[in-house]
Amino acid sequence: MKAFTYERATDPGAAVAAMSKAGAKFISGGTNLLDLMKLEIEQPSHLVDISRLPFKDIEEMRDGGLRIGAQATNSDVAADRRVRSRYAVLSQALLAGASGQLRNKASVGGNLLQRTRCPYFYDTVSDCNKRAPGSGCSAIGGFNRGHAILGASESCIATHPSDMAVAMAALEARIELLGANQAARTVAIGDFHRLPGDTPHIETVLQPGEMITGVVLPPQPPGQQVYRKVRDRASYEFALVSVAAIVATDRGTISAARVAFGGVAHRPWRSVEAEAALAGRPATMAVFRAAAEAAMANAVGRGHNDFKIELAKRTLCRTLAQAAQVG
Ligand code: SF4
Repeated sequence: MKAFTYERATDPGAAVAAMSKAGAKFISGGTNLLDLMKLEIEQPSHLVDISRLPFKDIEEMRDGGLRIGAQATNSDVAADRRVRSRYAVLSQALLAGASGQLRNKASVGGNLLQRTRCPYFYDTVSDCNKRAPGSGCSAIGGFNRGHAILGASESCIATHPSDMAVAMAALEARIELLGANQAARTVAIGDFHRLPGDTPHIETVLQPGEMITGVVLPPQPPGQQVYRKVRDRASYEFALVSVAAIVATDRGTISAARVAFGGVAHRPWRSVEAEAALAGRPATMAVFRAAAEAAMANAVGRGHNDFKIELAKRTLCRTLAQAAQVG
């Protein structure tokens, strides 16, 4: 690990001001950053510890929504009574992520900012456009079983690993930011993570020195919420495919539906195609399958990951059936 200096920020303004130092990076739980520093993939020269900032609370909003502080731990959010009752899909997704030990340490802000990555990103002798821009992508033409089937580019086919962010995409969360000039702004989660394009090393729309201060969940949407994650082992494993679904029915007809996938793209993947195929239709397996076909119409396999296209369709069908209480 390369040597670095460290300071603990005592207030938000001081935290963003400290980022003006060359090579500075925020650290909170450190569950992703420290791994990458040990491998010298990340080499910050200065760490600004924001884990003690007053952003741990989960608060009611006047409109009936909930504001989750960026420093709340994944475990605390998953266990919160209001999250479990009104945003069950978020609690389920959090509990499907990582391990208990990691969830106790990982923050909400850090979860959103963990690197979108693949095994070659960690292997410092392999070419990786994300680790070394312009060097190439070892996964294209290499072993790509877990890689993206939607929204990928010829520069990078990695998938975003977060479960939490997939549920937040379905819940239409908004991310609160504080900038280096102390300016606050809010970004919809659907606009926060970028597709790889030619610059896969740039993963979000965060400006230099900008910090996540919280996540706002709009009022509880109508319908049943379900998160389903398919993975190679039951714990401490990224999704091959996951689905967050929120489905409301009225006398057997789908009155509202939201669908987001994880494990399929460089960012949480909201499927407006699936939602359009569900709205106003009967809650039947045939309609769910049609929605799955629509969701994966533009999916592209890279060889080893071809199976993920059918897996995503079947996972969506099972998740919708559970949410709509069909079958
Ligand atoms: Fe690197 Fe992305 Fe290619 Fe993986 S898929 S090797 S992260 S450029």
